Amino acid sequence: MQTISEVRLELPHDEMQIKFRPDESIVFASSSGHCNLDCSYCVASPVVKLQPSLSYEDLMFMAQRIGGKVFFIFSGRGDFFAGYRKSDRLLQRLLEHEHIAVALDVNGVVIHCFPELSDEQLKRVRHVNLTFHYQQLKSHKALQVWRDNALRMLHRHDNPDFFVNFILSPGEAPIWREALQWYQTEVHAHYPKALILINDVLAGFSAEQEALLQALTQDFAPILHSVRRGNFESVLKSFDHVSCAAGRTYFRVWNNGDIDACPNVSELRLIGNAKSRQFALRADDFVCADVRHCDCYHIASAGRMTFYKRSASDAGPPHPSRTIAIHPAR
Ligand code: SF4
Ligand code: SF4
Repeated sequence: MQTISEVRLELPHDEMQIKFRPDESIVFASSSGHCNLDCSYCVASPVVKLQPSLSYEDLMFMAQRIGGKVFFIFSGRGDFFAGYRKSDRLLQRLLEHEHIAVALDVNGVVIHCFPELSDEQLKRVRHVNLTFHYQQLKSHKALQVWRDNALRMLHRHDNPDFFVNFILSPGEAPIWREALQWYQTEVHAHYPKALILINDVLAGFSAEQEALLQALTQDFAPILHSVRRGNFESVLKSFDHVSCAAGRTYFRVWNNGDIDACPNVSELRLIGNAKSRQFALRADDFVCADVRHCDCYHIASAGRMTFYKRSASDAGPPHPSRTIAIHPAR
């Protein structure tokens, strides 16, 4: 006979984990169909250029249909600010609504209305990932612009949930040292924000690159916060199945308007389109056995997932609950 028991989960401390609030719905938004850089390690390959972007009206349609507090995480498929004109004032207009909060994942080349946000609006910019794409900034002659924008953002809104990141891509190992030296002189000397080094999840390091990383973490220790070796595909593998809030209080919306409850499960894709103003929320949690994606990590860390384990036994009491620790990921 098979028994199913709930597994209690303890997420270890993860400094970069987005802090969700229990009374808000989460919308992971690939809002912009454009990026002004062309990073070799971009996960949106080829890098999106001049594709449709979500408008203020598209995002507000979603927020109104979901109801209550909505937390938009702007990440993926292009840079949030690169897909809009400054005159759109997209961020400013969204944050005029007290029930809307945002997380921003940006490359810092343009920051549009960020400096003009009020203190009240800035409080609802709850998480920032500002990435330092040194090689691309250098080849686009945008290093000084990035420096000025980074300092402006830090002076205005530095806090424990504001992260400045550098991607350790093996293909760019020859300029890792030069990049850290530039950051030390041009940014850290003016505002002491330590960098987080993040390994490129798509490529492993050679022994030589591992040795270089070791040397750099020693030589640049004063300007480094931590080295992060995330691999979200290996997270959350220890369970048979879960009950997941995708489609009820968690959604993904893409720059063309398509809304998925979860992009990883075919039957949960395309539950609406923000541009055609169609959107049907799910009434129930979804029982899922494919728990290995970054969406799963977000939903688990938001406390919107219940974990179960099947066990075979002849009879008698159910399999006792047990606690499994998982490793953090981005
Ligand atoms: S800035 Fe981000 S979205 Fe743009 S090319 Fe680089 S990695 Fe891709
Ligand atoms: S558990 Fe993960 S893959 Fe399954 S529906 Fe939820 S988010 Fe999607």
